[in-house]
Order: sequence, then structure tokens, then C-alpha cells
Amino acid sequence: MKSTVTIIGAGFTGLSAAYELAKKGISVTVLEADSEIGGLAAAFTVGGQKLDRFYHHWFTNDLAVMNLIDELGLQKSVQISPTNTGVYYANHFFKLSTPLDLLKFTPLNFWDRIRLGLLALRARRVTNWQELENKTAHEWLRELGGEAVYRVVWQPLLRGKFGPYAETVSAVWFWNKLKLRGGSRGKGGEERLAYFEGGFVALAEALAKRIIELGGTIILNAPVSQISHKETQGGLEWNCLTPKGLMSSDSVISTIALPQTADCIKDWADPKYLEKLHRIQYLGNVCLVLELDRSLSKTYWLNVNDPSFPFVGVIEHTNFEDPKTYGGRHIVYLSKYLPHTDDLYSMSSDEFLDFAYPYLKKMFPNLDRSWILAHHLWRARWSQPVVEKHYGSLIPAEETPFPGLYLCSMAQIYPEDRGTNYAIREGRKIGVALGDRLSTQTL
Ligand SMILES: Cc1cc2nc3c(=O)[nH]c(=O)nc-3n(C[C@H](O)[C@H](O)[C@H](O)COP(=O)(O)OP(=O)(O)OC[C@H]3O[C@@H](n4cnc5c(N)ncnc54)[C@H](O)[C@@H]3O)c2cc1C
Repeated sequence: MKSTVTIIGAGFTGLSAAYELAKKGISVTVLEADSEIGGLAAAFTVGGQKLDRFYHHWFTNDLAVMNLIDELGLQKSVQISPTNTGVYYANHFFKLSTPLDLLKFTPLNFWDRIRLGLLALRARRVTNWQELENKTAHEWLRELGGEAVYRVVWQPLLRGKFGPYAETVSAVWFWNKLKLRGGSRGKGGEERLAYFEGGFVALAEALAKRIIELGGTIILNAPVSQISHKETQGGLEWNCLTPKGLMSSDSVISTIALPQTADCIKDWADPKYLEKLHRIQYLGNVCLVLELDRSLSKTYWLNVNDPSFPFVGVIEHTNFEDPKTYGGRHIVYLSKYLPHTDDLYSMSSDEFLDFAYPYLKKMFPNLDRSWILAHHLWRARWSQPVVEKHYGSLIPAEETPFPGLYLCSMAQIYPEDRGTNYAIREGRKIGVALGDRLSTQTL
């Protein structure tokens, strides 16, 4: 009998796992709640071209994604470009892309600028990240760079990204961010980032096409509400309930957020295990996407280091990708991470724009509302796990106590943070491991 696997979620994790299983000739079905694939990297159309709902780029050292692209023969679609990063602080803009920019960063005195530069170097030299497990980022960054550097540079970023959880975020999370960004630079120290022609979703679509060619199935608009199992003569049979019917298989890989999986098994799973799946906190994200008739600034990635502003970053995507791609429109993302219970999370696109506009106008006084040709609001409830101290001990294993049910979700990525590169790495890894196991069982 041919083994069958059901995968819940057609984001990069689910698609990568399905790809590996399909390569081994295992019958695989991906169930996706949305009407499109891609998950957090899904897209919508602007000026006739697909655009990520949430801004995306890769670092040049994101090897898992580059390997997959090579394997699919899509190297030509990868564009690597220099980008520039800036900081908005106390009503001023500062470039912060190269070591020279750092030396000109006047919100800090000369010695603190040196300390900031040294901090990045010292952080990148840490090889044993386990040593950082019992420290918060807030403790570690103050230790490394001092109070002023922390207050001006890091604290606003931590608060912007993690809101109420800012002071509990682990040093490991921050170390990893510094290491990644530092490793994606050209010879002059300038940051270089990668993008995919047609948006990240174009890679997801290429992967989905390959899965289908290999005999796999992807079913859209199929939210799983229950995962259950029953004994059969051949062992356990797993069932995933969707509005489109019941999908039965030998194994299930769940790639959705851990509390979502907990909800699907709550009727029968051990309460202690359910508690574990509910333990890690997740933040939501709201992202306002503006289509403008002109550019706002020359900066691609602007960190907003002013806590009174309602967004942590202004990302002008068309300072990375040519505006011609989007029919000449300039694309700006305003991003905010927040608990899903925050009022901002439930705002409509118009309400969010009305709320954000005065702040944007303060930053860019020439801005006129007539520049905004269209706007869109995207929100994601499960967008960032809160990586606390000793996070390693909070992560549930991929193998659950229930034989045949596996978890492979972004909250299990550690010590790295979530990201498509790791979604692909972990998805492929579990696909290969389960594929090997099932192939030997059916021999
Ligand atoms: C604002 C923002 C910016 C980001 N920027 C970057 C970046 O620059 N570079 C980068 O690499 N990464 C970035 N990421 C992270 C990246 O998007 C994610 O790490 C990655 O896409 C996660 O893939 P995944 O498959 O693990 O999860 P997801 O993409 O969340 O996929 C899970 C899928 O499961 C589906 N699903 C949920 N519930 C059910 C259910 N009950 N039944 C069936 N299906 C279900 C969802 O619809 C979704 O399609 C960013 C994320 C955000 C939010």
C-alpha cells in the first residue's frame, strides 16, 4: 500500500515538506485554509504584478533558499541588490548602511558610535549561542554597548518589534539578527539583499507546480478544524476535517501555529501537551501597503526609532525593486507588530491610513495625500513568536506523543528566527526524514 501524508498549510514550510515527500513517490496532499498559497509570503496584484502582502527579502547567506532555487533551476530569477538602511530618530533621518554611516550617527557621541560598531563585531564573534540563553536582549545589549546605545538604537527596535514583550526577548534572538545582517554585505561593507522576480510567491508557485508534477495535491480553501485518529488493521489512520470533507492519511505534518494545532486536537489530546502548545506567545502584524505616484525617500529600510510613532519601519520596496515592475507605482510598507487584541489590529485599511498619515506627514513634510493612489491593509495573527529566555526548553519536539502526527512550524525554528529560508530548511528536513521512514516501512 502506498503511504499517504497530509500537510496542513501551504506556506513555505508545508510546500517544502510536500516537495521532498513527493520526490520520494509518497502520496502527499497539502490542505490550505486560504484561497492562495504562500502563507505569510502570499501576494496580491499591483500594476499587473504580484507583490508580497508583507515585505520580504533574503540575505545573501540564506543558503537553504538559494539551494532550493538552484535545484528548481530558477537562479535567473534571483536579483541581488545593494540596499540602504536608515534610522528616523528625534525628527531626523540618518543613514546607517555602512561603517562610515555609523561614524556620522550624531544621536550618539563619538565614543558611543565606536561602541555601537564594536557591539556589532563582538556580537558576531559569539559562537556558543547557548551562553546567551539565560540573558534577555535588553540585558545583553546594555552590557555590550552601554546605556546610551541601548536607549537610542536598540530599545526602540525591540519595543517596535515586540511591544509589551520587548524586555523579555532573548539575547539569542538579537544575536542572530546581528549575525545575519552583518553576513549579508558587499566588499565595501554595504548591505546586499536578494529578491525573487515576481515576488516570493513566484518561488512558492514554482514549488507548488513541481509538487503537482510529482503527483502531489494542493487543496485551497480547506481550513482544517479537527485532527483525529483511529485504530485500523494497518495501524493508526489520521483524519483532518475541512469544509471540503475528511482527508485520511497515514501521517499528518502540521505547519500552522502551535496554538492552532492545539485547537485541532483539543477534544482528545492530553491537557498537559495542549498547555505546551499554548505556551509560546505570538504577535500579530498589520502592514499598510501604499501605492504612491512618487518616491518618499531614497532609503529602502527605515527603522523608526521614535516610540511615539505607530509603526516600527517604513519599507520603500521600490528602492529595492524597480517601480517599473508595478506599472511605475512606488510601493511603501508601514509595518506594526502588535498583540492581536490591540485596537489597531482590527482597523480597516482606511482607518489605519487615517491614523498613520499624520505621522508619515511629520516624517515626510512634502507628502500629499494625492500621492497615494491606492492602499491595502494586510494582517496576520500568527506572525512572530516571542523568543524568550530559555526558548529552547519551550519548543515542542517535531514528533508529538501521537505516532504519525508531526509539528513543523515557525515557532520551532531556533536559535535562528522565523523566515522563509528556515521554513524551507525545516520543511525539507522533515519531508526527507518522514519520507525515508515511510519508504522503509513500505518496502
Ligand atoms: C511582516 C513580515 C515580514 C517578513 N519579512 C520576511 C523577510 O523579509 N524574509 C523572510 O525570509 N521572511 C520574512 N517573514 C517571515 C516569513 O514570511 C515566514 O517565516 C514564512 O513565510 C513562514 O512560512 P510557514 O510556512 O512556516 O508559515 P506560514 O507562512 O504562516 O504558513 C502557514 C499556512 O497555513 C495556513 N493555515 C493556517 N491555519 C490553517 C488551517 N487550520 N488549515 C489549513 N491551513 C491553515 C495559512 O493560511 C498559511 O498559508 C516576514 C513575516 C512577516 C509577518
